[in-house]
Amino acid sequence: MKIAMISEHASPLAALGGVDAGGQNVHVAALSEALAKRGHHVTVYTRRDAAELPRRVRVGRRFEVVHIDAGPARHVPKDELLPYMGELADGVARDWGRRPPDVVHGHFWMSGLAALDAARRPETGYRVPMLQTFHALGTVKRRHQGAEDTSPEERQWLEPGVGRAADRIIATCSDEVFELKAMGIATGKISIAPCGVDLNVFGAAGPVAARPRRHRILSVGRLVPRKGVDLVIRALPYLKAAGFDDVELLIVGGGGDTGSLDSDPEVRRLRGLAAELGVADQVTFQGQVSRSEMPGIFRSADAVVCAPWYEPFGIVPLEAMACGVPVVAAAVGGLRDTVVDHATGLHVPPRDPEAIGSALSLLLENPDLRASLGRAGEKRARTRYSWDRVAAETEKAYQLAAAGSPAGVIPMEGAAL
Ligand code: UDP
Repeated sequence: MKIAMISEHASPLAALGGVDAGGQNVHVAALSEALAKRGHHVTVYTRRDAAELPRRVRVGRRFEVVHIDAGPARHVPKDELLPYMGELADGVARDWGRRPPDVVHGHFWMSGLAALDAARRPETGYRVPMLQTFHALGTVKRRHQGAEDTSPEERQWLEPGVGRAADRIIATCSDEVFELKAMGIATGKISIAPCGVDLNVFGAAGPVAARPRRHRILSVGRLVPRKGVDLVIRALPYLKAAGFDDVELLIVGGGGDTGSLDSDPEVRRLRGLAAELGVADQVTFQGQVSRSEMPGIFRSADAVVCAPWYEPFGIVPLEAMACGVPVVAAAVGGLRDTVVDHATGLHVPPRDPEAIGSALSLLLENPDLRASLGRAGEKRARTRYSWDRVAAETEKAYQLAAAGSPAGVIPMEGAAL
């Protein structure tokens, strides 16, 4: 198949860990690569966010990235990109010319708008089947962030509109299906395909980064408040009270687009909190780390904590599991599918630092439990979350969209709905 992906703000070529560069970048890159390996031809269209970027970049065999001029050729926060979606669609449609792809797949709601616009232009004489992965939903974001949600007002009606107009939706977890249904989207056209993990990069065997203290707790991700890193800092005093004071909390990510930690307001807030709680000496801010260094850092941890308020999917827990490390996970969104309570990690209620502290104490005092959860996590990641498997599920959704036949919600084989 000839596949076009649109990922307006999240380029598969970007560095990770900045405010707007995380899971979606990894997802689009890895899915495209896996589809290309399966014999498809994949072009990812993304917005040009730096003047020096070449128009076309060949990433691998049958996989290329095309930078489209749409708005200023510099970083623009994703919540300010809506006005440029028309230009993005024009650029994509021009690139297709008279040779449209077999399917177009939008990532995030604004790319969905551009994908629909490019796919359904009467003057072209074709209608390209369109699939959508939302990655995050405005309804969920607003529920959790309230007035702090910086999404444009229009998201409230445009996002459900994308859902209704798309030929198929690919949800990344079962929780998302219920949210989509509540938005008025017919479940008959929803397939479930989760994110995957790169098993060639993330595995239990390999080098282990050095650690300065007896125990290491790890937090990885974009440093934005909803990721709940403050909750992990707040858990440290509980650990101390339980007798675990030789513990380091390593925080990977942050530093905004410049990568500078000192100018990142969230780093300042978290540093202030750690000082206030008297645990500043236990907290290390590592900043952004390249993918190649991540596995060694995961392996050096006794546990990885993912404590978001909400989480559309969450690739970090999968990476931790693949590296054989137990995960303490807030029981929200995609984390409820990926992390199995008392099998590959421990679930905690959302926004509950005391529960995080208790879960971590249980793990730190029990090396056998850590080892068995780690082994089970590794097995689960390997057997269920390879990108090849995710690409195969995605391919099925493409075939359904291309055939124009909604055939009921299609769960990933073996996935609970
Ligand atoms: N990541 C990274 N370096 C960093 C911070 C994050 O490589 O400094 C990667 C991390 O390993 C994961 C992704 O960014 O692959 C974050 O994805 P996730 O789905 O957990 O969160 P999102 O950013 O989508 O909210």
